[in-house]
Amino acid sequence: MADEEHADCIFCRIASGEMAATLVHEDELVVAFRDINPQAPTHVLLIPRKHVTSLNALSEDEDSGIGHIVRVAARIAAAEGCGESGYRLVANCGREAGQTVDHVHFHLLGGRALGWPPG
Ligand code: 5GP
Ligand code: ZN
Repeated sequence: MADEEHADCIFCRIASGEMAATLVHEDELVVAFRDINPQAPTHVLLIPRKHVTSLNALSEDEDSGIGHIVRVAARIAAAEGCGESGYRLVANCGREAGQTVDHVHFHLLGGRALGWPPG
C-alpha cells in the first residue's frame, strides 16, 4: 500500500484493495462497502480513502470529502431502496460511542425501523 504507516489499518487495506470487501461504491475520495456484521438489511460503511483516525482528527482539508461522503450515502440509500422510507448515517467517535476501527467511517443503516435513541 502507498502509506506504510497505516498498513495495519483494516479500512486502509480495504480501500487499497489489499483486503477483500463487498464494495458498493468507490471513487477518488470515498470507498463504500458492506459491513461484515450487518445490523440492518442495509448496512454499508463509507470511508474516506485518506486515513484519519476519528472525527476529532478531521481538518479543514477533509471538508469537501466528508460532504461528498454524505451525498454518496444518500445515493446509496436510494439505490438500496431506503432513500424515501428512511435510513440513518452515523459515525461513532471514541470508545464510549462504540468506535472500534480507528479510521473515520460512517454507517449507513436502513431497510428496517430504527429505534431512537440508540443504545
Ligand atoms: P465502529 O464500531 O468502529 O463504529 O464500526 C466498525 C465496523 O466495522 C463494525 O460495524 C464492524 O462490523 C465493521 N468491520 C470490522 N472489520 C471489518 C472487515 O474486515 N470488513 C468489513 N466489511 N467490516 C468490518
Ligand atoms: Zn486507515
